Amino acid sequence: MFHYKIPMTPGPVKVSPAAFPALIADFGAGYMEDEFYDTYRKVGQKLQNFMGTSNEVVIQSGEAMSILWGALKSCVLPGDKVLCISTGFFGSGFADMARSLKADVNLLEFGFDETIHDYDRIESIVKNFSPKVITVVHCETPSGTLNPIKELGKIKQKYHVPVMIVDAVSSIACTPVDGDEWNADIVMGGSQKGLSLPPTIGFCSISDQAWDIIRKTTYEGYEAFLPWYRLIETKNHPNTPDWNGIAAMDAVLDELAAEGIEEVFSRHLRVAAHIRKTVCELGYKLFPKEEAVQSPSVSAVYVPGGSTFFEFNQRIRSHGMGIGGSFGPLEGKIFRIGHMGSQATMKNAEAALDVLAKVI
Ligand SMILES: *Cc1c(COP(=O)(O)O)cnc(C)c1O
Repeated sequence: MFHYKIPMTPGPVKVSPAAFPALIADFGAGYMEDEFYDTYRKVGQKLQNFMGTSNEVVIQSGEAMSILWGALKSCVLPGDKVLCISTGFFGSGFADMARSLKADVNLLEFGFDETIHDYDRIESIVKNFSPKVITVVHCETPSGTLNPIKELGKIKQKYHVPVMIVDAVSSIACTPVDGDEWNADIVMGGSQKGLSLPPTIGFCSISDQAWDIIRKTTYEGYEAFLPWYRLIETKNHPNTPDWNGIAAMDAVLDELAAEGIEEVFSRHLRVAAHIRKTVCELGYKLFPKEEAVQSPSVSAVYVPGGSTFFEFNQRIRSHGMGIGGSFGPLEGKIFRIGHMGSQATMKNAEAALDVLAKVI
C-alpha cells in the first residue's frame, strides 16, 4: 500500500494514531442516538478552546471547502456587498465564490508573498463600501503566511459590518486563533489540517449576529448552516453524521489538551523555525517577503533554479517524502512543507531536511 515515510504534505495531514480506535468503532446512526449528541456537544466545546470563542460550533460532514461554501451561501444573497481581503489563493478564491453567488464583490488583493497591512486603506474601503460580509484567511496555506486579524476586527466593529468570516482551516490547533478577540462571526476549520484526521469534516463557530443573518438568508442545501441552528436541542440532523470522525476528533482534541495548548503552539513554532533556518542554510529561498508573517504550520519555498516542480517533486518522492506544490499564480514555482498537526515533530523535520539536503 502506498504511503509516505516522511509525511510533509500541507493537508491532508498524517492521521494521528489517537484517532484510530474511534475511526473503526461501530456506532449507530448518529441522528437517532443521544450518545451522538453528547459527543457532538463535547467536541464543539473542545474546539472552542482552539478557536478562541464562546460561540456555538457547528460540525458538518464534507471537509473544509464545504464549510467555506456553507458560510458564504448561508450569509450572502444576490446583490449583497462582500469585501474579500486577500493575500493569496484562498483569499482571492472567496471573491470568485461570492461572485458566483451574484454578490457585489470588492476584492482587496495584497501580494501573495505579503500579509495584511495598510490598515488606513482597508478602513477607507470598509467605510466607503460598507460591506455586509468581510472574508479573510488566517493562514494562507499556499503562501506559507499567517495574517494578523485583530486590527481588521477592530475596523469591522467600528463600521458595524454584520459578518466577518475567517478561514482558519490551516491554523486551528497549530497557532492561537482568537475568534472573539478578533470580532470574528464565523471561524472555519477542517479535520485534515492541524487536527490530523481524514478529510471528512468541516466545522465553524457562529456568532449570534451571524445566526440572525443566516436565519434571514434561509439558504437550503447540503452545506447550509440553518439546520444546525441549536442542533443539540432540536436533534434535527439533516443527514447521517460522521460519528466516527467526530469521535476521532474528540480523541485528538483530548490528546492535544494533554500535551497542553501552549505546548502544541510552541512545538509548531520550534519545528517551523528549525525547518526555515535549515532550508535557508541549504541554499533554498523562502517565498514570503521578509516583512510578511510566516506561518507556524506551513512553509512555502521556491523550487530550486533549473528544475521544474514536477522533477523536483519526483526526486523528493523517490525518498519517500510527501510535499505540496502550490496553486494559482504560484503553481510550479513554489513547493510547500506542511509542518502541522502530527507532522510538526523534530523527528519528522530532521528526516525531511535530510531529503531536502540530498535533492538540492
Ligand atoms: C486546506 C484549506 C482549505 C480547504 O481545502 P480542502 O479542499 O478542504 O483541503 C481552505 N482554506 C485553507 C486556508 C486551507 O488551507
